[in-house]
Amino acid sequence: MREKKRERYDVVIIGGGAAGLTAAIYCGRARLNTLLIEKGLVGGLATYTNEIENFPGFPEGTTGLGLMEKFQAQAKKFGVRFKGTDVKEVNFEGEWKEVHTFRNIFESRTVIIASGGRPRTTGAIDEKNYLFDKGISFCATCDAAANEGKTVMIIGSGDAAIEEGMFLTKFAREVIVSVIHDEGKMDCNEIAKEQGLNNPKMSFVWNTMVNSFKGDGHLDTVELKNLKTGEMTNYKIDTCFEFIGYIPNTEIFKEKVTLNRQGYIPTNELMETGVPGIFAAGDVRDKELKQVATAVGDGAIAGVGAEKYIADCEVFENQIMQSEKPGFIYVYSAIDDPSRELLPMMTEIEQSYGGKVKMSVIDLYKGKRLCDRLACDIEPMTIFYTLNGKLAATETDCDRPHVEQRLNKLLAKA
Ligand SMILES: Cc1cc2nc3c(=O)[nH]c(=O)nc-3n(C[C@H](O)[C@H](O)[C@H](O)COP(=O)(O)OP(=O)(O)OC[C@H]3O[C@@H](n4cnc5c(N)ncnc54)[C@H](O)[C@@H]3O)c2cc1C
Repeated sequence: MREKKRERYDVVIIGGGAAGLTAAIYCGRARLNTLLIEKGLVGGLATYTNEIENFPGFPEGTTGLGLMEKFQAQAKKFGVRFKGTDVKEVNFEGEWKEVHTFRNIFESRTVIIASGGRPRTTGAIDEKNYLFDKGISFCATCDAAANEGKTVMIIGSGDAAIEEGMFLTKFAREVIVSVIHDEGKMDCNEIAKEQGLNNPKMSFVWNTMVNSFKGDGHLDTVELKNLKTGEMTNYKIDTCFEFIGYIPNTEIFKEKVTLNRQGYIPTNELMETGVPGIFAAGDVRDKELKQVATAVGDGAIAGVGAEKYIADCEVFENQIMQSEKPGFIYVYSAIDDPSRELLPMMTEIEQSYGGKVKMSVIDLYKGKRLCDRLACDIEPMTIFYTLNGKLAATETDCDRPHVEQRLNKLLAKA
């Protein structure tokens, strides 16, 4: 097999939905060499919806596709490179993270995972025979026009199910909604519920779930099971739209970052995954509200986080772990009096060596990322000694004679 071509970037973003595109805008604008990899249509899930009414700045509403095209144009303006391919594998060990596609290995200092989710399916009998162009759709925008004057079924009662169902009533003759709950109970917001229940083209079949899908090559019947009575009923329909939630696209990240039980990636509020240099943003994250507005916020934070991480890497490699002379790194805390009071003494020690040793100082709280790179659980008043760009010793004894003794030994070895 042909060897894969290697390319290096500052940031690789996996996924070109609202989160990935926003991260790209921030990274591109910070002049980072940025690559965004998208396996499908740039814009992600937002392109599935015809109308987005709740994204700020568009009082008249906007189409998902139109909005995402603007995001992409803005990222391109800032020099972000786009690749239309599938990320197959990642390796987050080491300083240069690897992102593997069919032809390439992209090496990067940081990776932003913005791979979102995909629609969940019902698992009913013969469902897989009718997916996508054979009668089961997950995208009203894409398939509404083909259902002009026809009968369609919606599975689900969440926001997407009811809002997309209402959009479909503009085209279809009849929209039948299968709801798993008791009559009147739905998972959507109250406004959507009221509008849906009052829409003359929408009818609701309560306490039901799909038992099987039937047809001759193309779906023509959905068999619903009444969960209370066990009764089976066949509905003749032209297209069935499933809106029953999402599964995160995280298969390739298993054992590379922590995933929760549902497969989502937990992060802190800085979008850090726990693996240094790896961020997650958007629907792929374990979070409460999965929307374009929150994906945008996540993407912005992850983009800035990537920029700071790279800046810290440069400080760490070129200044703190410098290889020109023996060095010592004094870790203190601005809110810890004893450690702060030793700062002038440390400066005096450095000066007394007349330029033969180099001192670096890290504030434990402000320089948390730098401390993470040295070791975890560092206390104020810890000294790291370096020789030839490598750690030589870690000590908490900060007495002047002891520090000088250490430095003398390093100078003897240098
Ligand atoms: C029908 C519907 C209606 C909606 N309506 C609204 C609404 O009105 N308002 C609102 O705010 N939100 C709405 N949403 C939700 C909104 O679309 C999402 O919250 C948002 O798009 C999430 O963005 P994201 O970037 O996190 O993920 P996504 O948009 O899912 O993007 C992730 C991208 O990553 C790509 N990807 C995944 N794995 C890989 C891989 N291995 N290699 C390369 N690329 C990969 C995918 O192809 C995808 O394009 C709606 C969603 C749906 C489905």
